[in-house]
Amino acid sequence: MRRIGIVGAGQAGLVLAIGLRRLGYDVTVFAERSAADVRAGGLVSNQCLFHPALERERELGINFWDGQAPPVGEVAFAAAGEGVEPSMSWRVALDRPAQSVDQRVKVSDWMAEFERLGGDLRLRRVTPDDLEECAREFELLIVAAGRGPQFDALFPRDDERSPYREPQRAIGILYVAGTLDAVPGLTFGMAPVGEFFLLPVLSVHGPVHGIGFFGLPGGPMDVWDDVADVDQHYETARKLLRAHYPWQAGLLDHAHPVAPTELLHGRITPIVRHPVGTLPSGAKVLAMGDTAVTNDPVGGQGANMAARAARAYQEAIVERADRPFDQEFMHDAFARYWRHARHATRFTNDLLAPPPEHVLATLDTAQRVPEVAHRFAHLFENPAGYEGWLADPQAAYAYLEEGAARPVT
Ligand SMILES: Cc1cc2nc3c(=O)[nH]c(=O)nc-3n(C[C@H](O)[C@H](O)[C@H](O)COP(=O)(O)OP(=O)(O)OC[C@H]3O[C@@H](n4cnc5c(N)ncnc54)[C@H](O)[C@@H]3O)c2cc1C
Repeated sequence: MRRIGIVGAGQAGLVLAIGLRRLGYDVTVFAERSAADVRAGGLVSNQCLFHPALERERELGINFWDGQAPPVGEVAFAAAGEGVEPSMSWRVALDRPAQSVDQRVKVSDWMAEFERLGGDLRLRRVTPDDLEECAREFELLIVAAGRGPQFDALFPRDDERSPYREPQRAIGILYVAGTLDAVPGLTFGMAPVGEFFLLPVLSVHGPVHGIGFFGLPGGPMDVWDDVADVDQHYETARKLLRAHYPWQAGLLDHAHPVAPTELLHGRITPIVRHPVGTLPSGAKVLAMGDTAVTNDPVGGQGANMAARAARAYQEAIVERADRPFDQEFMHDAFARYWRHARHATRFTNDLLAPPPEHVLATLDTAQRVPEVAHRFAHLFENPAGYEGWLADPQAAYAYLEEGAARPVT
């Protein structure tokens, strides 16, 4: 069977590896950390997966946490106003629940599953220099090593597809436990200085909530650089709620940090890269997941996109049959993925900009017209719906005129 090498045991690499292994491919995954180290390590993501990505995991039989993970059944939205009460707010049920299972749980369990299926898991951090040796061993080498600059030279920035050159948000995430006065779903708050969300998660510590703040750089929510530990993070989060989301001021009053490791600070530069890299020998390697396309997590798309990438690449590999995995194949595999990823990327990049009038009008109408709220909330599940709607002010206003005629009284 054909020999495939994958650098990186994350949401993208492992879903592809397990999918290919189930079809009998000879698959090797290079993981920089053991399953035990991943599980014992710090927080890495907030990983809310919507229905299509969850379905992919179910198809592969690797949805080990259905029934244990708290369902994310609703989206509650509110925007800050002049006073304590939000200027607008609505909540809507998702047609099919989303779910957030801690990536430390997923990755460590999937590493074991991959090996159980006969996959070759090698504990090794692969450097750019090592790729040459790896490329000689495999018919196809895929780099799914997450975001960051380590493979910058190999997969340069695609300027046409990357509108930002700097991080657009200062991010602070904390896992908390306790009594939370929250909806059983995703709570999302918008303010001129940034966003916050609250989400139930099945973490390595069991069911918890993740609370995240996305502050505009240099603004009053860009506060995480000086925060040293979970207790300071918790107090800072409460201050931010009081200052910028006053209707949620007491949200964390009866909650507490889960453990000293359960926090995450950072900034992410959104980037789309040229996905086909050329090694000094002329051998080609293919980027996947965050290595190919990194979006700001504010749109909750990255892990969902990684699952889509795994499906797109698997289909391309299977269709290739016994023909070579050459440059043409690699461009085709990425193009299949980009057909979806471009929507998620556009949607997320637009979320980072101040909301234009037609988006504010839509969010406002959503309070009175459940269909509008429903349509907006389901963009997170299927951002392809954004293009012919909110990406186009005329289409957005036309829909409001039609939709606004059906308010709930
Ligand atoms: C704060 C935050 C919140 C987020 N929230 C969401 C959300 O709600 N919904 C959502 O869909 N997405 C979310 N994301 C994004 C999501 O986590 C990523 O997009 C997703 O994990 C990407 O998967 P990946 O497999 O491409 O990369 P990763 O998950 O980063 O996996 C890459 C793997 O490769 C390994 N690796 C790296 N370098 C090497 C090397 N040189 N050799 C060998 N192994 C290597 C790493 O250890 C890692 O295990 C969030 C991200 C962050 C930071």
